[in-house]
Amino acid sequence: MRDQWYVQNGNRVAGPFSRRQLAALAQQGKLKPHNLIRNGQQGEWQPVSGVSGLLPAGRPGPSPNEKSGTPEKPSAEPSPTLSPIMLVGLIGGAVFLSTAATAVVCVMLLTRPSGDENPGQPPPVVEDSAPEPESESFLPQPERERNDVTAAPAEPAAGPAQAPAPARVAAAPAEPASPNVTAEKTRPAEKQKPLAKPPAKVVTEVQPLLPPIPEEKVAISDAEIRKFERGVKLERRAVHACARYEVFAQSFAFTPEQQTEIDSTLDEWKKRSEADLYRLGSDWVPREEVVAAEQSAEQLIQRAVALIEVGNFDGCIEQLEDANRENPNGIKAPFLLGLIWSLPFAGLNGPDNAEKYFRVVLLRHPNHPAALNSMALAQIKQGDHNAAFRNLEEAASLADVCPEVVQNLGRFIRLAESGRIKTTSATLRRYSDLYSELIATKRGPEFNDRLGWLHMLPVFPTAEREESAETSAAHVGKGGEKLVPMFSGSGFVVAPGYVMTNRHVAVDENLGVADTIGIPDPANPKNELHGTVVAVSDEVDLALIHFPKLTAKPLPLHPQKIDLASDVLILGFPRGDVLGTGMKATQGVITGLPDATRQGELGRYYIFDATSDQGNSGGPVFDRTGRVVGVLTFLYREGASIVSQGVVSQGIDAELSGGVTSESAHAFANQHIARFAEQAAPDAAKFDDWAQLTRSVSPSVFRLTVYYRAGLPQLQVAADLGQVKRSAMEDYTCPRCNGGSRLPCPQRGCQRGEVSVKYFDSKVIGVGTNRTVMRVPRYRKERCPRCEGKASLDCPDCVIGIDTTLLR
Ligand SMILES: [Zn+2]
Ligand SMILES: [Zn+2]
Repeated sequence: MRDQWYVQNGNRVAGPFSRRQLAALAQQGKLKPHNLIRNGQQGEWQPVSGVSGLLPAGRPGPSPNEKSGTPEKPSAEPSPTLSPIMLVGLIGGAVFLSTAATAVVCVMLLTRPSGDENPGQPPPVVEDSAPEPESESFLPQPERERNDVTAAPAEPAAGPAQAPAPARVAAAPAEPASPNVTAEKTRPAEKQKPLAKPPAKVVTEVQPLLPPIPEEKVAISDAEIRKFERGVKLERRAVHACARYEVFAQSFAFTPEQQTEIDSTLDEWKKRSEADLYRLGSDWVPREEVVAAEQSAEQLIQRAVALIEVGNFDGCIEQLEDANRENPNGIKAPFLLGLIWSLPFAGLNGPDNAEKYFRVVLLRHPNHPAALNSMALAQIKQGDHNAAFRNLEEAASLADVCPEVVQNLGRFIRLAESGRIKTTSATLRRYSDLYSELIATKRGPEFNDRLGWLHMLPVFPTAEREESAETSAAHVGKGGEKLVPMFSGSGFVVAPGYVMTNRHVAVDENLGVADTIGIPDPANPKNELHGTVVAVSDEVDLALIHFPKLTAKPLPLHPQKIDLASDVLILGFPRGDVLGTGMKATQGVITGLPDATRQGELGRYYIFDATSDQGNSGGPVFDRTGRVVGVLTFLYREGASIVSQGVVSQGIDAELSGGVTSESAHAFANQHIARFAEQAAPDAAKFDDWAQLTRSVSPSVFRLTVYYRAGLPQLQVAADLGQVKRSAMEDYTCPRCNGGSRLPCPQRGCQRGEVSVKYFDSKVIGVGTNRTVMRVPRYRKERCPRCEGKASLDCPDCVIGIDTTLLR
């Protein structure tokens, strides 16, 4: 815990910083001689000038390149951390405090692949404390109350109506009490430190995890460079893109031609980064422009929804298309367009258009289960059953529970078996296999033949969701807003009513902080208790969730680091989709202690040789005495590719897990739970074996289901006004005619209701004795007997486009 410096900044405290980082800040002129700093959270405050070696020799001028020597600490470690670019990150309040963070492919263990390779680089904590009116400029002054604990600038997405956490929770089912109740019961209330700092310490921007620069550099192909560059361009913030590109630029042995290209691209990124630009579509613009685009798109969307309510679908589509152009980052407008071209209430039935818009959603937000599922339906309507299958399969792999996918697979199978959908037996088998697998793993109820195709309620990213925070109260009552289970993870009780898990379980890079998190109610496993995310660490991958009604016993955190090669046991809920949702245990030893030479955030973590998988995230790691020594966080995966999704990585010949130490977990809990530190140090218990230990601790280990509020409440209301009372997300369009209720006339040669009839004419050719009579073929148009001139027949499977098997 040495060399963890905190800096007073106004009435906040920033840190921890390493000494090197402080020196760099001083060098930049961001830290003045009179600023107060302390070493460790309990250290004495002292002026910067009182600590030798921090202030530059000369003026506090900005010369990032030349490091002024420090007498006692010769600049033995010229730090890659302190490049100007990294400092931009730092000044922006966010991040890159450590050098390139992690190693190897580090897969976060949420049950869901998307974006999990970025567990996030912590910004320094800025906590409320010691009042000191003077404010220095090296940390941004927070403009938003909601962010009062993070120095991180609000991300581009943050809309104007920032809902504090309690407001969100109001929308969650079964969430009664305020966060204070449990502790007031258990402890005398003399020391009125708030139990948890409510509104959640909302992290709205997840930092990219930077891989280390390899010691041995290998060549890289032009194609791989381009692939990496494409990935970098998808970052939302230039500062992050630039940081990643910087590491990339140092990680390979480039050819001279490549080097020239790389250098110029890096220059470009540095310029964007210095200007702190954000991505809007493929342009890089100031943040205000992104916010303005989001706001104007949101207005257009509101207008569009109002038009749906009066049945003006042409007008609605026009507004949504404008919104789609206005905010090229958004997915709400294209998603709505896709639905309008899919769902029967608009009477449009344009699966090709629907597919186009769902594709837009997926370009902007890959791995969106609702868009994948809906796109598959559009593809089924167009006869592209294999593409549809791949999308359904992917949607199922992303969504923890996916009744819609199960229903759609079942419906496809039923229609194919009855000959109403024509497909090959191989395709049908793939659908059947996936269906059986999902049913076996309880991912949804069995196919219901009284139901049509089902679209999933979509969840939108923070910026496009905030709007509904204001209106949510109005809609919740109507059942318009639903919570959608998106991900799952593991967690354990750390204090009465508090569950600890990983930050990356509680906060999604794209969707923001979870709206609520569910655990099975120990008193009645059929029920779920719902909790609120009350704190998120900026330093390590941890979050705290408060469950007012949870009475399970807290598990003791081990007060110290434990020895290398100590036995450990991991409990958690990996891969519910494959392994079932019951608890799983794996055992191993501590393979690696926290180690500063492992770069970045991961230098603070343990490494275990016990295996783990997605869904283990946030699960406790026990020693032989039943104390929690760590919180499982990531996985080193064997043999990784060099460039994957824009992340450069190196292979490793073992499968290892890693996790936050109990020391860090203790410090974090102590910061947010009143009197946490006063709890008696846990006694080491004696257990005969792991099984006995597991029986003892498992009632305090939970599988977490992470919920987000679904969007589109208004659309739902609009659809309820439709002719038949049905779920707005049910597509009961007849699969034979795609809702048109007419089929093209099957009569051979029938064109616009007419068929050509062949007849022969006699013709006399030649003169005199050469005259012959020839039979010449002629054609005449006649009314088609099959369709009686209508060119089409009534579809036998539906009434006005509604599948007859679904009529009620
Ligand atoms: Zn039909
Ligand atoms: Zn005909």
